[in-house]
Amino acid sequence: MQKGKIGVSSDNLFPIIKKFLYSDHDIFLREIISNAVDATQKLRTLALRGEYVGDMASSKVSVAIDPIAKTITVSDNGIGMTAEEVEKFINQIAFSGAEEFLEKYKDDANAIIGHFGLGFYSSFMVSSQVEIISKSYREGATAIRWECDGSPEYILEESERAEVGTDIVMHINADSEEFLEKARISGILTKYCKFLQVPVVFGKKSTWKDGKEVDTEEDNQINDVAPAWTKKPVDLSVEDYDKFYHQLYPMAEDPLFHIHLNVDYPFNLTGILYFPKLKNTMEVQKNKIQLYSNQVFVTDSVEGIVPEFLTLLHGVLDSPDIPLNVSRSYLQSDSNVKKISGHITKKVSDRLSQLFTETREDFEAKWDDLRLFIEYGMLTEEKFYEKAVKFFLFKNVDGKYFTMDEYETLIKGEQTDKDKNLIYLYTNNPEEQFTFVQAAKNKGYDVLLMNNVLATPLINQLEQKFSDRRFVRVDSDVAEHLISKEDPKHELSWEEKNELSPIFKAVCPENKDYGFIVDFKDLGENGFPMMITRNEFMRRMKDMSSMQGGGGMSFYGDMPENLNLVVNTSHPLVKQIFEERDAVIGTELEKISGELKVKNLEKAEIEKEKKGKKDEEIPSEVKEMSEDIEKAITALKDDQKTKLTAFGKENKLAKQLVDLALLANGMLKGEDLDKFVKRSFELIK
Ligand code: ADP
Repeated sequence: MQKGKIGVSSDNLFPIIKKFLYSDHDIFLREIISNAVDATQKLRTLALRGEYVGDMASSKVSVAIDPIAKTITVSDNGIGMTAEEVEKFINQIAFSGAEEFLEKYKDDANAIIGHFGLGFYSSFMVSSQVEIISKSYREGATAIRWECDGSPEYILEESERAEVGTDIVMHINADSEEFLEKARISGILTKYCKFLQVPVVFGKKSTWKDGKEVDTEEDNQINDVAPAWTKKPVDLSVEDYDKFYHQLYPMAEDPLFHIHLNVDYPFNLTGILYFPKLKNTMEVQKNKIQLYSNQVFVTDSVEGIVPEFLTLLHGVLDSPDIPLNVSRSYLQSDSNVKKISGHITKKVSDRLSQLFTETREDFEAKWDDLRLFIEYGMLTEEKFYEKAVKFFLFKNVDGKYFTMDEYETLIKGEQTDKDKNLIYLYTNNPEEQFTFVQAAKNKGYDVLLMNNVLATPLINQLEQKFSDRRFVRVDSDVAEHLISKEDPKHELSWEEKNELSPIFKAVCPENKDYGFIVDFKDLGENGFPMMITRNEFMRRMKDMSSMQGGGGMSFYGDMPENLNLVVNTSHPLVKQIFEERDAVIGTELEKISGELKVKNLEKAEIEKEKKGKKDEEIPSEVKEMSEDIEKAITALKDDQKTKLTAFGKENKLAKQLVDLALLANGMLKGEDLDKFVKRSFELIK
């Protein structure tokens, strides 16, 4: 028997392991089993080369729990270790700058284990004592037993083992007894070992007999040693791919389609990515991409390893070239990782583009489920955007799909404005904006359906890329003005508008969320008498700020929305209101405007006198007169406004027309709606 001290420069490694590796205790099993798998693979290679003649066919890794002895034993039929090899591989741990490194990566067990080649020693996270019983494949080798209780001292002695291979016996410490539970170990094994290359067996398969769970003869094998991604695409059918998908995510719906990755230069990467059916939300995807290294599960948080939008995909990636046992921040700056991520982006866009060209109909059928993914990619990855513009589809309100080019051709004739801008009309809610959609269609325009979560940022992006294209929501103006074809025909002057707006302002609802700006337009006798529109720019700013939840644009989010009440000056009912105004307050208004005219003339006179003079050169009586005139003008205007407002308040027709416009926009509710109905009865009487 030999006693020795493990070659660690730090006095005692184990307290450090226990102290710092607290985050992922369960990876100890992954490490021990990976070693067992490696040892088995090595012996298989030797057998293939004829350097070992034993039977490899039934080689496997077994995991056993002994609740009474409080041990977990991992046994393999692998290469085994001689005393010298234990000395070399287990006892000598090169250690330099340890404390510093540990301090830096204390939350990242992977980084620590990788850095120190501590795989085996991670068993001490959960064990008070670990034994290795091993028999090397080498001819005439004697079995050995190594034992260590967590102090730097170990024992190494000759032992007995019938077959070639290794047992790692972990005496579980008092804090870690959870690992003696079958369910816990089962969980860890399914997480990390599901696709290892060597069969991993955990007890026997059980069955129910006479109301009791009993073991059968059959090994309970945890893993599928040849998962789909390790096979050649030609050997797999769509069903095989779907079956594998459900192996990964038992609860998920069938995927839309898959991409089989298989690269061996300039890096190694295999895997299968699936396009899931994405609902129109950005909800966190429960079925995450799983990352493997030679079939050993590493992580399912691939953020930073693949571009953000690809995290919406499902499936597996397997690469021995991704440095797995390192920290996340290191991973993100690793050049292999960057290359891999660029490659995946390219593969994904190639596949989409292929589906689009080869099976356009099918692609369209899947579009609604793909859209979110594609838009997300276009918004976040320039490289993807460049490819995606060719297969991105617009969908119009009639359910037809167009590529960007096709759509341009479609609308060019009718929807180019006087400044040569191409105007894309869209709705985000065809139900609510029904009247507007109809009005636009009646004018021969096409209306797009942009009702998905990323519509607003996407529209902004497209407008930035193409300076001569604008997106205009159908309710942002009356149909006649959505696309300005020529300079506006004669409309009311600012002064005239000013004199009319109090009437209508008086009947607009008062509300803290939105205000009204009254505008007048000639929409023809057959147009609606009044309409409510929303300014495209303001509305979009509000949309963006609500998406971002505060932040830089919350300025717009906090502002009440200004809606436009557009009054059609040539509609007979509006004309009737003007007539009623003349009948009721016409004389008073005329008197006021007569006086205003006089005052304005006087003002002009005075202005002439003041012109070109410095303030101190103007005589004080002139200044006083000027002030008096200003006051008189303000008073007259106020009076005019008061009279118009009072008239408006009493005018049932004006109120009725505003309410109708509100109703058409789904904005007439509660008490106002009730009053509207009652007033309607009165008016029909
Ligand atoms: P790594 O696996 O990263 O080299 P470990 O600390 O996990 O580091 O293991 C150290 C070495 O011990 C391995 O490289 C291998 O040579 C040897 N070893 C560990 N477990 C076994 C085993 N079950 N069978 C044979 N050799 C083993």
